[in-house]
Amino acid sequence: MLKYLMLYEDRGIEIEYAESQYVWDSNGRKYLDMHTGHGVAFLGHRNPHIVNTIVDQMSKVMTLSTSFRVKIREEMLEVLSKVVPDRYEYVYLLNSGSEAVEFALKISRKVTGRKKIIYFTNSFHGRTFGALSVTANQKYRKGFEPLLPETMMLRYNDLSEIDKAVDEQTAAVILELIQGEGGINVASEEFVSELRRRTMDVGAILIIDEIQTGFGRTGSIWLSEQYGVYPDILLAGKAIGGGFPVSVIFMPHDIGVKIERGSHGSTYGGNPLACAAVKASTEVLINDSVPQKAYEKGNMFFELLRRELKDIRIVREIRGAGLMIGIDLRIEPTNIIKELQNEGILALKSGTTVLRLLPPYVITNIDIEYAVKVIARTIASQISS
Ligand SMILES: *Cc1c(COP(=O)(O)O)cnc(C)c1O
Repeated sequence: MLKYLMLYEDRGIEIEYAESQYVWDSNGRKYLDMHTGHGVAFLGHRNPHIVNTIVDQMSKVMTLSTSFRVKIREEMLEVLSKVVPDRYEYVYLLNSGSEAVEFALKISRKVTGRKKIIYFTNSFHGRTFGALSVTANQKYRKGFEPLLPETMMLRYNDLSEIDKAVDEQTAAVILELIQGEGGINVASEEFVSELRRRTMDVGAILIIDEIQTGFGRTGSIWLSEQYGVYPDILLAGKAIGGGFPVSVIFMPHDIGVKIERGSHGSTYGGNPLACAAVKASTEVLINDSVPQKAYEKGNMFFELLRRELKDIRIVREIRGAGLMIGIDLRIEPTNIIKELQNEGILALKSGTTVLRLLPPYVITNIDIEYAVKVIARTIASQISS
């Protein structure tokens, strides 16, 4: 029999059922899910409105090239327009975050006629060749070189190199406002506004990758809103499909009009089910005040964590925004993640020392209180052992 390639760590349990903020394994054990498939199930597992909308579309038209118009796409565009700033005029759907990154990089070269692409230490933008070329982690890159030429890595949150590195030869700068995989590192406001100023000055494209930070998780629809910075290209993924694999790229008029027919495409991109998923997810985002709830629950989570973990020596820092939470430890968190799982809590790692929590917005105050207690106890127990 075939074996599945285990490219991620085997967590040793079989998940049989998922609902809202919980999953159950095949032994009937319940887990509070703060892994959420790397943040995908932010709107809760099998959110009923999203499931119903997809099922309804599935019963009409399930697959269709974007050559043909379909009503669900118009409905999706109408509601999606309400959650992006007016300056974005064009949108394109792809199937994964990496594909959105690929397209953004291609657009940058095409539109500027330049080649150089700048990225940052500890960045993660995906594992296809283009996305990997702007992903810092050597562990992911090793064995796959040569990657894209004329890429350049700068230090995250270091303003000193920007003016020299971002120049008239630069096609794009690609940035995460909070580095999701690279350690829940938060970009400083000065760093982001300096990048915005400099890219505008030299005519380079600023790509902000909100595949993990976006769609309500950090307490506003887009984290870039909190920075007051508008990228030329905005990328969304993960949460935006409510569990359906889809990514979205937004761009303003002056970029969109320069991408001519045939310069990109995707068999599955923008299929009717993806349109249904994005439409329904956006309706949930708006109608259930998701960003506000993520903000309030995030505040409570951070407050309790800071209180309960403050005397634990191996806790270095707690950082993030809204429901994107990193607990930076003085040790590697793998063992803690394993023990949390035994205690009924699913979490994940970020960088080398960060315990990452990506709970769905439907997490309750009781869940949060319980989780903080268990996390504090589990981390504290590592010191004695
Ligand atoms: C997950 C992620 C990606 C890659 O998305 P895939 O769907 O795995 O291809 C890119 N950028 C960021 C910031 C991510 O968190």
